[in-house]
Amino acid sequence: MVGALEDAQRTVASQRPSNWIGGLISRATQLFRESLLWITTSVWFMSPPVRIVGTDMTTTEHLDQEAPEPATLETLSPSRASDFKVCPQLFKFKAIDKIEVPPTVYQARGTTAHLALQWLFDLDAPERTPERLYELFRQAWVELRDAEFPDLFDDTDTERAWGIESLEVLANYFLIEDPKALEPLDRELDMTEDLGQITIRGILDRMEEEADGLVITDYKTGKAPPERYALPAFFALKIYALLIRNRTGQTPVRLKLMYLNGPTVYEIPVNDVQLDATQRKLEALWQAINRAIVNNEFPPRPGRLCDWCQFREICPAFARENPDEVAAAS
Ligand code: SF4
Repeated sequence: MVGALEDAQRTVASQRPSNWIGGLISRATQLFRESLLWITTSVWFMSPPVRIVGTDMTTTEHLDQEAPEPATLETLSPSRASDFKVCPQLFKFKAIDKIEVPPTVYQARGTTAHLALQWLFDLDAPERTPERLYELFRQAWVELRDAEFPDLFDDTDTERAWGIESLEVLANYFLIEDPKALEPLDRELDMTEDLGQITIRGILDRMEEEADGLVITDYKTGKAPPERYALPAFFALKIYALLIRNRTGQTPVRLKLMYLNGPTVYEIPVNDVQLDATQRKLEALWQAINRAIVNNEFPPRPGRLCDWCQFREICPAFARENPDEVAAAS
């Protein structure tokens, strides 16, 4: 399984950035400090002195609500399909029960960085510098903060520390790619496609035309998994490649996962045989999901992801640790 990955994988050294990038980070840090000063001041003047109440819930507050009826699924996103493969119980919490959990600082970093990287390619190529990317990150955070992450930080110092760390992660982007030498065909592409009985819906980060054909790229702001666990992470990208083939008639030649926290890049080649197999897997998965819904059977599948799972407190697999929460949730 890992053989194909080894052939095509390019792992970028994960040591801390070298001197020049260190200079960028220090400039980025300064920029973010100045930016946050500006943000704090602006928001203070522009907003009423009331905190916006979001949909935050602790992981147990939902227990006061009535459990929703199991619903049939009309569309499936590549990330929910991956969830079901990893752990059906996780899929149930997210896609069927639709349990809301407070957003994390990692999700805020990912959403903001994706928006900044999307905007970076609106600029003319010579302007795609680290400083402009940091500036775009700041602008994206201004746009997203109150709307999507209103209660994420308790104080400005914590927010500032998060911002500085985010810019350090973002600085790594320039170690693995030169955005001046790239003109993506599409960014944040809304993909809604029928595949037989399934409607797949998702957002594709980026697609570019390289010398040998179409390349599908996904940004991650987290750390890369070890190589032996990397291949399953491509499942969602294979689905996007399949949708692109259906939509354009052109088969992508490569899939690329760019993990900025490291940084690390994993690439694999893709072809029609693999995409045909992905379509069959997807159809089988759809059948399995529908069976699970009808029978209300979503077995938990404990594994290494449980340590980061936001539903661990109410997960039946950990009923011994949290008997009251799990009993109330079931
Ligand atoms: S804690 Fe583990 S087993 Fe439970 S839902 Fe999350 S990933 Fe699945």
